[in-house]
Amino acid sequence: MDLFTKEPDYASLTYEEVREAAQTCAKCPLAKGRTKVVFGNGPVPCDLMLIGEAPGADEDIQGEPFVGRAGQLLTQILSSVGIRRPDDIYIANTVKCRPPENRAPLATEQEACWPYLEAQIFSFVKPKIIILAGSPAIKAVLKNDEPITKLRGNWQKLAGTDISVMPIFHPAYLLRNPSKEQGKPKWLTWQDMKEVKGALEYHRKLRELVKEPED
Ligand code: URA
Ligand code: SF4
Repeated sequence: MDLFTKEPDYASLTYEEVREAAQTCAKCPLAKGRTKVVFGNGPVPCDLMLIGEAPGADEDIQGEPFVGRAGQLLTQILSSVGIRRPDDIYIANTVKCRPPENRAPLATEQEACWPYLEAQIFSFVKPKIIILAGSPAIKAVLKNDEPITKLRGNWQKLAGTDISVMPIFHPAYLLRNPSKEQGKPKWLTWQDMKEVKGALEYHRKLRELVKEPED
């Protein structure tokens, strides 16, 4: 964000106000090609958040994240470890509008869209755990350029916060690599999701113990 562009202070707005602001956003060139802005969905606040790359064709039409084939696989993977959509997880993307021909979002587009994601993370969802699906999400949020094969499955902390971050393969990649054999991407992702489920349970039990008020 350059110094001369006035960005509203999203932290002082309500969730609905920020969502509304995004609906008419034209801060980056992706605005021109979109049908619907895909802001994100799920409970607010929510212990668990997933950040994907960008809306695809189905998401662009429906205005909801991860509803196409990759989304259906994601729903299955989550439910295999007892995480239900939409009740247990808030889902968003690094950019809210569909890139042309499903190309990866550019760093400049992700930067233009960051204030929305920032508000989602820090002002509204306030997750304990973030799943980052695929390299573009990992690069944008963790600022880490290491290969996904090295990063996935390894817990990180979001810089300057206590939020645990689990990088995983993107479900679209798993569609192209469908083997469930031990050691293959799909099997590895299942292990990663079991890790996430364990961490989620830990936070749930901790909350029960200390009776932390739901803010
Ligand atoms: N792929 C993504 O990264 N996000 C979506 O919302 C759908 C597919
Ligand atoms: Fe605005 Fe983000 Fe859409 Fe770009 S991708 S137009 S920054 S909502």
